[in-house]
Amino acid sequence: MVIGVVQHDGPSPVVAYLNARLPATPEVLATAAPLKPTEIFRLAATCAEHKCPHFDGADCRLATRVASLLAPVVDRLPPCVIRRECRWYSQEGSAACMRCPQVTTVTYDVSPQTREVSGLPVIEEPLQADGLA
Ligand code: SF4
Repeated sequence: MVIGVVQHDGPSPVVAYLNARLPATPEVLATAAPLKPTEIFRLAATCAEHKCPHFDGADCRLATRVASLLAPVVDRLPPCVIRRECRWYSQEGSAACMRCPQVTTVTYDVSPQTREVSGLPVIEEPLQADGLA
């Protein structure tokens, strides 16, 4: 499901949340071209729990790192349509939401802080001739 669109017109990407649920159909995802859907859309999916490297058996460690390592970027809860079922919110409360708009599905920021928050290895992709990966 698409829950937001990543705005790239400021110093760093910020998610603008949609006010309705938008299924991530192939047609919707195709509107991101020539960029990748993950560069344009903030996507949400059912928590995979034990199939996810962030799950420790009880909690989402990514949510914990987001809430504890990132600074808040908003001072009120973003208008997010999945809050009632969001694992990050149920686990970390408003601390997750105040930081959530700066979280994008993919990032090209390989700063030490971003790596620490991610908790995953950096995947390097070759650039194409037009500069797009
Ligand atoms: S952390 Fe908050 S803003 Fe982010 S997806 Fe969950 S409910 Fe929405």
